[in-house]
Amino acid sequence: MEYAYDDQNIFAKILRGEIPNKTVYENDYALAFEDIAPQAPVHVLIIPKGAYVSLDHFARDASAEEQVGFMQAVAEVCQITDVKDGFRSIANTRTHGVQDVPHYHMHILGGRQLGRMLQD
Ligand code: AMP
Repeated sequence: MEYAYDDQNIFAKILRGEIPNKTVYENDYALAFEDIAPQAPVHVLIIPKGAYVSLDHFARDASAEEQVGFMQAVAEVCQITDVKDGFRSIANTRTHGVQDVPHYHMHILGGRQLGRMLQD
């Protein structure tokens, strides 16, 4: 499968500092920031700094360092946001997954009791 990355997507612009974000955490490999339209009291997006369109692209092509750095950011975000009662991570992917922004991002949602996983 070919993964074509569009560097004009909104998260690429955030990474280049062209549009602002509310940063929650940052390391060499990942940036975490508040979702602009939160669906829960905690709604953070974690994105790799590399040019990956989706979770499967990242899992296939990102280096071990990038993948570990990304997961370390996940751990830090969970600690910072204090989601000790639980949370949901979501990676919407392409058309069936209803992905709007074509730069891999993991949603972390929590801070309240969430509904069941899927609603059509
Ligand atoms: P999706 O690609 O469907 O997984 O979701 C994209 C998410 O990005 C949505 O939850 C949007 O609210 C969020 N979003 C879009 N633009 C921004 C932005 N400039 N800053 C923060 N979050 C954004």
